[in-house]
Amino acid sequence: LPTSGNSIRRRFLEFYESKGHKILPSSSLVHDDDTDKSVLFTIAGMLPFKPVFLGKVQRQVPRATTSQRCIRTNDIKNVGKTSRHHTFFEMLGNFSFGDYFKKEAIEWAWELITIEYRLPIENLWISVYEKDEETYAIWHDEIGVSANHIKKMGEEDNFWMSGKTGPCGPCSEIYYDFHPEKGYSNVDLNDDTRFLEFYNLVFMQFDRKDGGSLEELKEKHIDTGMGLERMARILQKVPNNYETDLIFPIVEKVAELAEVSYVDADDSTKTKLKVIGDHMRTIVHLMSDGVKPSNKLRGYVVKMLIRRSILTGKLLGINGGKYLQSIAETVIAISSKIDPDLKSRTPSILEDLKQEELRYWKTLEKGENELQLKLENAKKEAKTNNTNPLLSGKDAFYLSASRGYPVELTIKKAHERGVSVDMISYDIEKDKQRRQSQEAHQNICSPLCVIIENIQYSVSLAYDTLNLKAVINFRDL
Ligand code: ATP
Ligand code: MG
Ligand code: MG
Ligand code: MG
Repeated sequence: LPTSGNSIRRRFLEFYESKGHKILPSSSLVHDDDTDKSVLFTIAGMLPFKPVFLGKVQRQVPRATTSQRCIRTNDIKNVGKTSRHHTFFEMLGNFSFGDYFKKEAIEWAWELITIEYRLPIENLWISVYEKDEETYAIWHDEIGVSANHIKKMGEEDNFWMSGKTGPCGPCSEIYYDFHPEKGYSNVDLNDDTRFLEFYNLVFMQFDRKDGGSLEELKEKHIDTGMGLERMARILQKVPNNYETDLIFPIVEKVAELAEVSYVDADDSTKTKLKVIGDHMRTIVHLMSDGVKPSNKLRGYVVKMLIRRSILTGKLLGINGGKYLQSIAETVIAISSKIDPDLKSRTPSILEDLKQEELRYWKTLEKGENELQLKLENAKKEAKTNNTNPLLSGKDAFYLSASRGYPVELTIKKAHERGVSVDMISYDIEKDKQRRQSQEAHQNICSPLCVIIENIQYSVSLAYDTLNLKAVINFRDL
């Protein structure tokens, strides 16, 4: 099919190849660069080229195009809730290293989406940086986009920088409008019931000096990113990224294991199915790139994602020890085009997953046994005092923080036995612990602070959603 995920990817790369770009393979998801500790994972197509953009490394080719596998743990909160965010996704990109600039980048992007992908012009909107007159003029005067469909936005939305100083520049983004009948007054491009951002064109134009002044770069660069899953969603005319052929077989596999039908499921069930589908893609691809579940850095992220998938599955009523493996098999089956090495790594990925899954089931079993004792006590106490049975927040927090037994399950199990959980005191306990860990964090003075912050970020997000204990040991870093 011309709109399958695989063909959208191929057509993007071949289009830019026809414009003189060299097709390069996706780099690893693991960003392990001693000179750049700002992130743990490849978060964008430009990351492998960052040293070239920063002038630290000579360019190999003047123009390149890639489909880069990316990880964004900071989007974990959005997963399954918005229709467009994943922790793992593919970013299609075309890059110019001191070669072509705005005019070609814009002309080709427009040709690609309107002629190659045939998106109707009336559904397309453009954002430009408010001070970037040049870009506005190219869109408006040369391409002929109506002023009604161009939005000027501020620095926060449309200016890219990788740090306080160094290369930076304006960007221009392309949005798809699912409801053009709503017209063009009072339009908010961030309204995701109507718009979908899918292509970002970054113009690396300036060097920001100490003190904030901007100097024109001698060598100007182009860095772009288009979300493959988002383009697939548009072209396949499905309501969200998860229903595209790139992800839906995984979601359906989860639904089959949970013995529910995706189509008939309520929103909360659908979210859970999507969360597991998303996380399993991330887990498999990270493991394929050599990350094993552990208590440190990237391995910790994998471990948390595995736990979250198991728990989410448990909330859907999936039990048993080999549940993740069978989903992983589906991920692998549809990912051969993305990662040619995946096949040879399959046995070790499945084995590691099985071990981790068994380990966590044991943890949950122990937690469950402890919980049942506590519930028993709560009931006895209530009988003696002639009150309603209540599990204290302290107990619920102890189970989650020290025993890896999440509060969601505590609530569910307690409910099944007719016991309520004191969530007010639970929240107080949780807050106390959060404050303590923040203080501990502030007391750490280390050159690895950035990394710590980054992992803290991922961990705190996982923590927020799961109430799992953050087992990062700072001394191990
Ligand atoms: P959004 O505003 O939707 O969060 P973004 O502005 O953070 O996206 P960019 O950093 O501009 O995204 O990345 C370039 C492109 O990569 C986006 O236009 C989008 O198509 C895709 N993309 C970014 N984040 C994600 C994600 N979490 N899941 C899927 N695709 C993504
Ligand atoms: Mg974002
Ligand atoms: Mg955005
Ligand atoms: Mg963007």
